[in-house]
Amino acid sequence: MPRIVFLGTGAGGFKGSGRLKSSVYLDGMLFDCGAGVTGRLEDLDLLDKIDAVFITHLHSDHLSGLYDTLVSMVVERRSRPLNIYAPPGLSSLLNTYSSLGNKLSSPETGFSVNLFVSLSTTARVGEYTVEGVVLNHVVTNVGYIVRWSDRVLVYTGDTREPSNLLKHKVDYLIHEATFTERFKDVAKRYGHTTALEAAKTAEAVGAKKLFITHIENRGDPAEAKLREAQSVYPEAIMPKDLEEFTL
Ligand SMILES: [Zn+2]
Repeated sequence: MPRIVFLGTGAGGFKGSGRLKSSVYLDGMLFDCGAGVTGRLEDLDLLDKIDAVFITHLHSDHLSGLYDTLVSMVVERRSRPLNIYAPPGLSSLLNTYSSLGNKLSSPETGFSVNLFVSLSTTARVGEYTVEGVVLNHVVTNVGYIVRWSDRVLVYTGDTREPSNLLKHKVDYLIHEATFTERFKDVAKRYGHTTALEAAKTAEAVGAKKLFITHIENRGDPAEAKLREAQSVYPEAIMPKDLEEFTL
């Protein structure tokens, strides 16, 4: 049974340490890698289990833990390569870190990073196939559609009006819900979704499970997002950091 772990469920603007920034683990795959996620991967013995990393976009709350994670893989003497899938721009960021002395590969062990830059990735990881789909945000954001057996999971990253999703049938939807309707104008300005809108998308794609994430707490409290999503989609779940589910 696929195991999903919510490593970080906070938005960039989440205040405090109660929720780390975005990251989700699913059976050898890591979707986004916010700050602090490396330690959690180590605590859960997941660091060496990662075969592929999928980055949705280059905002720091989805990305800034990636360098630490790669450095930890070098320190742990990982020998097999790591595939990273991302939209354009990641290569120059990784090169900048590398040039500053942060080793992101290891000739001694053979560890290296294979970077695949694409807006329409197709990848195979074990029994899973992963397809990238561009979703509307203030910068280029690639959502990922994961398929196995006859099931489909979508991880949106940050998005506003994910119209490219609506033609798909989705079983498990991990959707950002940064704001409530009270802050809809802010959501629009920064390319985000309200919890109500996320719930409506879950209905539209026929999702069996909706996980709302990328939670902000400076406007309304996190619980207000869950209540709003559940007003449309009663079984909506708002995972806490480190919460796990079997799909
Ligand atoms: Zn963003």
